[in-house]
Amino acid sequence: MAANKENILEFLPRTDCEMCGMTCSDFADYLLSGDLSPTDCPVLHEEQYAGHIEALEEILATLAEKAATGLLIEAEKCNGCGICVAVCEYNAANSESGRMGRGPRVGEKVALRVDDGCIKLVDESLCTRLIQAADKCSKCVDHCPTKAISLI
Ligand code: SF4
Ligand code: SF4
Ligand code: SF4
Repeated sequence: MAANKENILEFLPRTDCEMCGMTCSDFADYLLSGDLSPTDCPVLHEEQYAGHIEALEEILATLAEKAATGLLIEAEKCNGCGICVAVCEYNAANSESGRMGRGPRVGEKVALRVDDGCIKLVDESLCTRLIQAADKCSKCVDHCPTKAISLI
């Protein structure tokens, strides 16, 4: 299961009791950023929430798979349309075939590529998000029609 705020909130009490010093929604943000862990919610230790901490830990484990760029790709949502490949800032600047409106050639150095019908961040180091910039690129996220890519 992907780690997004909706999934996280499903397993939080959603009572906004503020025993953690904030609302459940804010707590969910801290879980996503990795600054807090599910065990930091005292309410989740109550019997009625048995299994919720484990469920949250499982969801958050997907964060370990997220790219250093902050991009999380949910393969099951991708339809392989290739829009993100075409709009990718790195691809557009460096892939000649991409600029010509075709998919990148096999072996061409690109950040994103559709592989076997699904998008892959084939070389994370090429994503321009890793370069310190005032406005970080989020073109692939912004243009994906199925919301298969998110920033976390
Ligand atoms: S302690 Fe738990 S239930 Fe209370 S607001 Fe924080 S996250 Fe929500
Ligand atoms: S964030 Fe920008 S540079 Fe990085 S993969 Fe997406 S479109 Fe390409
Ligand atoms: S991630 Fe989105 S834009 Fe990219 S190929 Fe998949 S569905 Fe298309």
